[in-house]
Amino acid sequence: MSYLSFEGSPPVTSLPRRADVAVIGGGVVGLCAAYELAAHGRQVVVIDRGPIARGSAAGNAGLITPSHLIPIAAPGVLSGVVRGMIRRTGPVTVRPSIDPAYLRWMVRFARNCTSRAAHAGAVALRALGFLSADLAAEWIGREGIDCGYRKLGLLYVYGDPAALAAARHEADTMESHGVTIERYGAAELRELEPALDEGVIGGFRSVDDAGLDPARFMSGIVSVLSGRGVAFVPHTGLLDFRTSGGGVDRLVTSRGDLVADEVVIATGAWTPGVAALLGESVPIQAGKGYSMTVAAPRHGPRNNLLIGDRWVAVNPMGDLLRMSGWLELGRLDTRPSLRRLAQIEANVRSRVRLDPELTVLERWAGLRPVTPDGLPIIGRSPGWRNVTYAVGHGKLGLSLGPVTGRLVAQIVCDRPTDLELDPVSPRRFP
Ligand SMILES: Cc1cc2nc3c(=O)[nH]c(=O)nc-3n(C[C@H](O)[C@H](O)[C@H](O)COP(=O)(O)OP(=O)(O)OC[C@H]3O[C@@H](n4cnc5c(N)ncnc54)[C@H](O)[C@@H]3O)c2cc1C
Repeated sequence: MSYLSFEGSPPVTSLPRRADVAVIGGGVVGLCAAYELAAHGRQVVVIDRGPIARGSAAGNAGLITPSHLIPIAAPGVLSGVVRGMIRRTGPVTVRPSIDPAYLRWMVRFARNCTSRAAHAGAVALRALGFLSADLAAEWIGREGIDCGYRKLGLLYVYGDPAALAAARHEADTMESHGVTIERYGAAELRELEPALDEGVIGGFRSVDDAGLDPARFMSGIVSVLSGRGVAFVPHTGLLDFRTSGGGVDRLVTSRGDLVADEVVIATGAWTPGVAALLGESVPIQAGKGYSMTVAAPRHGPRNNLLIGDRWVAVNPMGDLLRMSGWLELGRLDTRPSLRRLAQIEANVRSRVRLDPELTVLERWAGLRPVTPDGLPIIGRSPGWRNVTYAVGHGKLGLSLGPVTGRLVAQIVCDRPTDLELDPVSPRRFP
């Protein structure tokens, strides 16, 4: 059995007939929405066509990163992608396709790679990221969720002088948005993290970031909510919607119909297909990534690391060590690739000393739901009065899950929202 499998109390297997709120998608965003909706007194049913609490986060890097406020669409990104594809070191590969939705997405992405758009995106991501990080810490503490949460910051390290120079500018940008940054030379970094290789020449720590085991975080939420009456129904796919009078009346699922007053769509990279059932177009492309979880090496790293010039993350999770990275745009499948995983391991080994032989426990792939401006989509559907989208979190679904849950509950319950919703509105893509 995979160690990623659900360990909490077993989810229910029969589909209730009705719910105040039906959440489609039991990934990290759907679970966070369920948490806040239940806290707002709503009776919630979460369905997923696969297992609950897996989705695209169970094997992810496990980092909560308010420091990641520069959107994925930013100046210099396109040239960086081309360079990485030529050198074959990553971090991004782009699937060639003539699918019109894919091409439209590409054009929108390219248009967002400007300083102005990136600045506006950073302001929005800063507000979301910091509130979300606070909420995550609050939930974990209040509910006693045992997920290895450690707020030790994130060490960004570099071995390439040009990448380090560019990273210093990024650190300045982060600082200008209120992220606390500590800058280090090579010797100081090696003192902080003795597992770093001689090739590391400098870097910085973003103090506000944290790490955890995302699978344990999600099973913790499910355990808490199961005790509060939230129904989790795995292996139940949304097949269609029945609508009348501008709203959704019922969900048609692979296990029968579910009547709901409100519907929350939290289907990650699969959202375009779900939205199409409502006649809506949501610009999300899958950004496939990989991770490998190994038994903690005898002399492995102690810190959460982002090896910035190789685009891989390392998360020591107690007895485990997780290495992750890569982004393959336009791949809607979750098969792990041994070739990519070997590349990720090689990229880690190029900067971090690891035991020669590692005991591999899990090889994993997941799909980042990537929007063309790098911001999530949170808000009421443009066309349907009782449908709310909570999708498009890209590389930040774990980081922004809690704040998304909070905003979704406020939207559904018609309360004032903690943050301005315009930057993340589903209506921003005409
Ligand atoms: C390699 C990698 C590393 C990452 N590292 C980090 C990190 O360190 N920090 C961070 O913040 N983020 C990270 N991410 C991103 C994060 O994992 C995603 O943003 C997040 O998983 C998105 O969550 P979600 O709930 O929107 O979608 P998902 O987690 O994909 O969940 C969507 C769920 O919807 C279900 N579903 C889809 N269609 C239907 C249907 N028709 N009916 C019923 N159910 C359906 C799916 O089965 C799935 O369970 C990483 C991603 C990858 C790939």
